[in-house]
Amino acid sequence: MNLHTVVEVKRPVSIGEIDRWETGYAWLAGGTWLFSEPQIETHTLIDLERLDWPPLQMTQDGLEIAATCSIADLYAFQPPAAWIAGSLIGECCRSFLASFKIWNEATVGGNICMSLPAGPMISLACALEGTYTLWPHGGEPRDVAAVDFTVDNHRNILQPGELLRSVKIPVRAFTKRHAFRRESLTNIGRSEALLIGTSAPEFGDLLLTITAATVRPVQLRFETMPTAAALREAIDAAVPETLYLDDVNGSPPHRRHLTYYYAEAIRRELAA
Ligand SMILES: Cc1cc2nc3c(=O)[nH]c(=O)nc-3n(C[C@H](O)[C@H](O)[C@H](O)COP(=O)(O)OP(=O)(O)OC[C@H]3O[C@@H](n4cnc5c(N)ncnc54)[C@H](O)[C@@H]3O)c2cc1C
Repeated sequence: MNLHTVVEVKRPVSIGEIDRWETGYAWLAGGTWLFSEPQIETHTLIDLERLDWPPLQMTQDGLEIAATCSIADLYAFQPPAAWIAGSLIGECCRSFLASFKIWNEATVGGNICMSLPAGPMISLACALEGTYTLWPHGGEPRDVAAVDFTVDNHRNILQPGELLRSVKIPVRAFTKRHAFRRESLTNIGRSEALLIGTSAPEFGDLLLTITAATVRPVQLRFETMPTAAALREAIDAAVPETLYLDDVNGSPPHRRHLTYYYAEAIRRELAA
């Protein structure tokens, strides 16, 4: 849709060109959300495209995904065979309520910064123990754990003018065994619950990431594989009733039921 309040679009080739930040500015990535509804408080868009960040870089430490990497480019990435949890990339890309048209424009960073409970790039980054590099406006870059970034439905820790630069996924997370479960009311629909478990073969531990069912990601870490009862108890302790999302895609009691159900399925799969 046309954004009638927008009077200027800046297209910097370097972030240094944005030497001030004011209320009414917004970063523009793929625009799939920005152009999907009126943005009455926005008068200036700052398009990230010309910054021309390399979408994906493999390093000896792991994978660096630029915030501007499209979902299509991420989906096309072929991880090395040893990165067995690399298949989670495909699982999460297919977890959008979106067709390939959206995949070509929507970016990984845009999805993370939207901070919706059903943001599958958030699920991916949290489950794979990712770190986000943030560029505060006029400050030094800072790194935050993916799981600490989203604090509520459509709310995160970004300060005014702060930019998400990249997502770093460590090699060790890619080499873990993993299990993925997702519920949606319709095929290619919005996720009602999306849970991912990972386990390092040498430790037999469990890292369980709960997303979509809850307003923000919840992560449970067990040094050894828990019993079914211990897992359920840990979920109850970490996820009070108020943390379950209540919207048209699912009620809190149903999301809680799915959380228990899929967490146990993941536990059994990884314990086997
Ligand atoms: C049909 C359809 C289906 C959708 N399905 C889903 C879904 O299933 N799950 C879901 O989570 N979303 C969904 N969305 C919402 C949205 O399209 C996605 O979240 C998408 O990934 C946003 O990415 P984008 O690059 O288009 O972001 P944009 O629309 O460009 O930006 C989104 C927000 O993030 C900010 N932003 C973008 N990049 C950065 C950055 N690097 N640093 C700081 N701030 C930044 C923007 O200022 C804006 O506030 C859907 C949208 C449509 C139209």
